[in-house]
Amino acid sequence: MATRHMVDKERTLWNGRPQQEIDMTTTRFAPSPTGYIHVGNLRTALMNYLIARKAGGTFILRIDDTDPERSKQEYVDAIQQDLEWLGLTWDRVEKQSDRLERYEEAAQQLRDLGRFYECFETPVELDLKRKKQLNMGKPPVYDRSALALSEDDKARLREERGNGHWRFKLDHERIEWVDGVLGARSIDASSVSDPVLIRGDGQFLYTLASVWDDIDFGITHVVRGADHVTNTATQIQIIEALGGTVPTFAHHSLLTGPQGEALSKRLGTLALRDLREAGVEPMALLSLMARLGSSDPVELQSSLEEIASGFEIGHFGAAPTKFDAEDLYPLTAKVLHELPLADVAEDVAAAGVPDTLAERFWDVTRENITTRKDLKSWWELFANGAEPDIADEDKEFIAQAMLLLPEGPFDDATWGTWTKTVKEATGRKGRGLFMPLRKALTGQSHGPDMSSVMPLLQVIKARG
Ligand code: GLU
Repeated sequence: MATRHMVDKERTLWNGRPQQEIDMTTTRFAPSPTGYIHVGNLRTALMNYLIARKAGGTFILRIDDTDPERSKQEYVDAIQQDLEWLGLTWDRVEKQSDRLERYEEAAQQLRDLGRFYECFETPVELDLKRKKQLNMGKPPVYDRSALALSEDDKARLREERGNGHWRFKLDHERIEWVDGVLGARSIDASSVSDPVLIRGDGQFLYTLASVWDDIDFGITHVVRGADHVTNTATQIQIIEALGGTVPTFAHHSLLTGPQGEALSKRLGTLALRDLREAGVEPMALLSLMARLGSSDPVELQSSLEEIASGFEIGHFGAAPTKFDAEDLYPLTAKVLHELPLADVAEDVAAAGVPDTLAERFWDVTRENITTRKDLKSWWELFANGAEPDIADEDKEFIAQAMLLLPEGPFDDATWGTWTKTVKEATGRKGRGLFMPLRKALTGQSHGPDMSSVMPLLQVIKARG
């Protein structure tokens, strides 16, 4: 017992959390189902997943669907498919739309605590206030004028304008936390507007739902994008007001394009399903995203377990992280080079390769493809014959060589015997012999070993 306690004390996760807490590590990925998830979302999902898996904890998929107009089941399904494609399995799913009664309880607690107040300004009025403050060189923080309303004022405003929206009353003190990526953070609460938690139409907003879920589900670590830093400050106060335990927060930097340009507009083209469609291999994408922006080198990993065991959130930097989708392709090619036929048999068959040639076809092409999609064009080349590439000065030589080429089907020995015969007949040798023959048969000046290619060739267009 004593020994275990000592070991426990020594082994700590980031932010000095003791082992007892690591044992119940619980993280969540909380997408809003209003679109397809992209590489930016994947970063968040993956980091939360890896922290939970590394600690043997729980990873929750939380569907943030408090906005009934924008949330769609189609996107919930798509998010799940995308995560499944990558093997990012969750231990349970929670949907915020199933928990509205719970949020009402949280709201009531905040009212009872005197930390919740109803406001009636219209969006136009709020905008005007903000503009005035900015003109006067002041930060556009909500001025709390609703706090001065009497019960009679509120009743009258409710008559005139309908129900008000509800704001959480921040304590005007510094909010501090040790961030897993950013280090010690401190935000002055008086520089932030009291957050609106319920809209005039009664809709619970993300902040209330998220905070209450994090408390209810025992979330120990929250990793999300740096665009949430201010949210974190206000959420810490709300969690404390509701008597919850503040999780450890970490904010990863946002992704930019390869030149440092904002990626927000292009993220639409970097949806996970587009990358899958383009032929990117899951392990290539996971290997890149688990290391990009950290001090650990990007290298192809073999499994999520391997990625998890080497994952350290503290190795990530705060600076924006450059992402270039092109980097996914060399990694994808590397994944494919390693695969046995069994793992690509379906794609090989779908490319049209007969079973009898599958093994040889895969041996020949595996090192010459970038994605599985390339298999089809290789088979087309073998099955239908390539357009020959013959230089003028080689025309006669090729014509002569073609007369010496035996009828198919070819075998492993064909290339050797044939080129030997051609050499004897024409006196050519070395590159001058082999290169024109390769180009005549495959239309390309480079590619797989010709002895292995010959048995795959079904048609030789250069025969004329
Ligand atoms: N639904 C929120 C988002 O996608 C979740 C943020 C959070 O992790 O709390 O931005």
